[in-house]
Amino acid sequence: MEETGPARNDSQSIDGHVKADRKKRGRKVSRDVEMDIEYLHKAVPQLSKVFRITDKIGEGTFSSVYLGEAQLMDGKREKFALKHLIPTSHPVRIAAELQCLTVAGGRENVMGVTYCFRKDDHVVIVMPYMKHQPFVDILGSLSFEEVRLYIYHLLKALRHIHQFGIIHRDIKPTNFLYNRQEKTFALVDFGLAQGTVNTQIELLKVVKQRTTQRGVGSTGKKAPQAQPPPRATRLPLSTPPQHPTTITAPQPSSSSSSSSTSVKPLAKRAATLTSTNRTKRTKELSGLCRTPRAVFGERNLNSCTPAPAKSADTKIELVKPSKTEDPATRAFVSVIRRPLSTRTPASSQKQPRTPAVNLGLTCSCYMTDRVCNVCMSRKQQVAPRAGTPGFRAPEVLTKCPNQGTAIDIWSAGVILLSLLTGRYPFFKANDDLIALAQIMTIRGSRETTQAAKEFGKAVMCSCELPRQDLRTLCETLRGRSSPDDEAMPLHPPNIDIANPQEPPTEEPGGRNAEENVPEPQDEEGWDQVPEEAYDLLDRLLDLNPATRITAQQALHHPLFTGF
Ligand code: ADP
Ligand code: MG
Ligand code: ZN
Repeated sequence: MEETGPARNDSQSIDGHVKADRKKRGRKVSRDVEMDIEYLHKAVPQLSKVFRITDKIGEGTFSSVYLGEAQLMDGKREKFALKHLIPTSHPVRIAAELQCLTVAGGRENVMGVTYCFRKDDHVVIVMPYMKHQPFVDILGSLSFEEVRLYIYHLLKALRHIHQFGIIHRDIKPTNFLYNRQEKTFALVDFGLAQGTVNTQIELLKVVKQRTTQRGVGSTGKKAPQAQPPPRATRLPLSTPPQHPTTITAPQPSSSSSSSSTSVKPLAKRAATLTSTNRTKRTKELSGLCRTPRAVFGERNLNSCTPAPAKSADTKIELVKPSKTEDPATRAFVSVIRRPLSTRTPASSQKQPRTPAVNLGLTCSCYMTDRVCNVCMSRKQQVAPRAGTPGFRAPEVLTKCPNQGTAIDIWSAGVILLSLLTGRYPFFKANDDLIALAQIMTIRGSRETTQAAKEFGKAVMCSCELPRQDLRTLCETLRGRSSPDDEAMPLHPPNIDIANPQEPPTEEPGGRNAEENVPEPQDEEGWDQVPEEAYDLLDRLLDLNPATRITAQQALHHPLFTGF
């Protein structure tokens, strides 16, 4: 964090500054990015007095991040990351994100905040800029030592925020910046954070209360709210000293409609949406579009449609064929929201299978591999589920209401799985049940069912999926060993295995063929991955949050001896 803070620089007018900057930089940013920068300057004109905004460095659904340069009081120029939140973000949510950064940030691998600008419903969080390499770009060239370092520093950041009672809820590589040259790390993006019961972040208590009251989980970010905000949410900002030490959270537009997702389009709102749509195409900036293929493709586990039952290589039956179009019948895995004890299989067997939505009839799907219409029409259980499906812990995927910091640890485990296999994203699913099915493929279906039972959820899987040996799995996916049929880590007919590091000539199912196995790289330490690495992976990916290792414990794991 800067001692001096950004100084004023009145030399730039809003109009024309983009062109001037482009000249100075001597390289082109796309016209889209130029327009976005211009839009930002118009939305928050104060920025122009402090920053020369030169590029867009990140873009998600809920924010765009820009690179800005400011001249400090001492004359030095310094780079900043300017996070422009979408104007529909809830004020409390924004304030909570800022409070996480101010209270916990700036040390222990957690990003800090320098300043915050606001005009109307536009908020820009200014952070020190951290140069970093997109995860996908470096994944294939990381040495094992670097992987060890990376995961250690991630756990350090997690220990730190967990000590404050912050659950990040969106741990994934794009939120953990890594500067490879300088070996520095920074956890960013508290836009989905929630508090534990004892959280020290006051506003996270508010976020929690609000979400509990509203019964929508922590969807404040994922589904921009258009609700009346508290009249003035004040957040103490610690820096810089020469500026006011409080900010008032912005009031969302007064044009709230009853719809939860639509806010009446003001002129500027329309501009925002246009901007967002346009910049979607420039997503490569955030590295998201460069992601190689996932280990799993959704179709593998959800190929509901008339899968030829006689297909020679189909070993497991995913679903019972159904005549209806009911999407529920496609479910590969089903989660029963009521505890097992409240079910009586005998009585459910008697129920007719015909749809009986909203007639007060009882469920007919118990102990079957489908979800009946009665269950489909039930109210959703209220539980936080924000985050990215492929990184969600089993207790999140099954909507367990009691979620804690262990969910971040699971996500760290998924990152380690990517690091050890060289595959990113490892799990890819748009749907929670598909994500759960993918987890079962690695961790075992019986094990998953058992863990779910322990946290109060009944999960059923239509077939048995054995738990994989993690070393075999990682070495196979990395291309270090060719599995014999017995030790095949994944079921070929159902799991689409693609190796992003491989030339495109490789066929997904061709791993058995000798010529398709990549040459093992004995350098970089990958020939001697210690057992401790897989042990830590196993503990991070503990299906049961109650027994899952904590960040504090993980930092003392034998894998990190000597750190
Ligand atoms: P979102 O909520 O939209 O995901 P993030 O806070 O995760 O926003 O930021 C999006 C991206 O912007 C990050 O993945 C990263 O590439 C970049 N970014 C964010 N903060 C910084 C920073 N302080 N320095 C450099 N890049 C950053
Ligand atoms: Mg992010
Ligand atoms: Zn049912």
